[in-house]
Amino acid sequence: MTDTRHTRVLIIGSGPAGYTAGVYASRAMLSPILVQGIEPGGQLTTTTDVENWPGDESVMGPDLMVRMEAHARAMGCEIVSDIIVSLDLSKRPFTAKGDSGTVYTADAVILATGARAKWLGLESEEAFKGFGVSACATCDGFFYRNQEIVVVGGGNTAVEEALFLTNFASKVTLVHRRGELRAERIMQERLFKHPKIEMLWHHELAEVVGDETPKGVTGVKLRNVETGAITEVPAKGVFIAIGHAPASDLVKDQLELHNGGYVKVEPGTARTSIPGVFAAGDLTDHVYRQAITSAGMGCMAALDAERWLAEQE
Ligand code: FAD
Ligand code: NAP
Repeated sequence: MTDTRHTRVLIIGSGPAGYTAGVYASRAMLSPILVQGIEPGGQLTTTTDVENWPGDESVMGPDLMVRMEAHARAMGCEIVSDIIVSLDLSKRPFTAKGDSGTVYTADAVILATGARAKWLGLESEEAFKGFGVSACATCDGFFYRNQEIVVVGGGNTAVEEALFLTNFASKVTLVHRRGELRAERIMQERLFKHPKIEMLWHHELAEVVGDETPKGVTGVKLRNVETGAITEVPAKGVFIAIGHAPASDLVKDQLELHNGGYVKVEPGTARTSIPGVFAAGDLTDHVYRQAITSAGMGCMAALDAERWLAEQE
């Protein structure tokens, strides 16, 4: 028999936006249910030091997310380990189906599904995923002790990944398609000073090269974007750090989206194009994409949901 659970507010996602919405919705006595998804704690669980969370000069990403979860739980938020596989926003109550078989019905929904790592889309990248190609240095860096590693990207994530990987690697080559990084200045300074890191400007990954038995990466072919020349660089690990795309699959045919898949909200609110459905965090934000802004938007979503529910009564 299908297990059906009704809640006033269903929160989908357990990053800073989801947990903050959980704290505020619980304190508004809305008894929310929060579904964690495949990555409990969200993107910050894939990093190490977070140095821009106010009140903590430095805190480990996974520790911060454990604290946020505990905070939401302590306020009365019910936290469920499940993944929403489909969502029907066409009628109220809204209906969400969980991978567990549970069906959640809700008077209001807060979407906080964040973003997930982008890939280059190369055949060879796909072939060696999990066999030397990764998008998470904190998860997989450990496997490359004293090995050479290539990181692709030019934003904060790429720089952070490259710096983190120096803890294991003998050498890290950061490959960027332009001649300047997008990362914050302070991060760039750390990068340029590091003796184990070599910067390769104006290059892109053309192919990941490897062996089939045992399956593993042996190097990469890099293309100079200005001349087209190909260089081969030996590497055991290839980390793709070219940004994140919004996780809007559940709602892409139901809500208004913009800027390449981000859920559109009314400016200054968390209201989406469907009344009773609110969105927060990286799912809606192609500009700031920070933990603190996501948490702020989670707060806005819960307050907006509380007001909207009160208006319905
Ligand atoms: P996310 O953290 O992306 O969480 C999304 C949640 O939604 C996850 O829990 C996932 O399981 C859940 N979910 C997705 N789909 C479903 C579904 N179908 N059903 C149920 N749940 C679902 N920001 C900073 O401010 N400082 C930093 O130092 C910093 N470092 C970073 C380092 C790295 C490596 C990365 C990748 C990002 C970093 N960021 C940092 C950015 C920050 O992590 C994000 O801005 C923030 O996590 C976004 O929060 P969010 O709640 O919107 O979503
Ligand atoms: P990002 O800022 O969007 O940067 C993506 C980088 O990858 C860019 O340099 C981009 O190149 C490059 N890129 C994109 N597509 C590419 C492709 N197909 N081939 C080659 N290169 C490609 O993404 P991010 O670094 O993941 O950061 C995302 C957000 O999280 C940002 O807001 C960031 O501030 C935040 N974050 C913060 C911290 C921190 O505060 N310490 C740490 C990590 C992330 P171009 O520059 O040429 O466009």
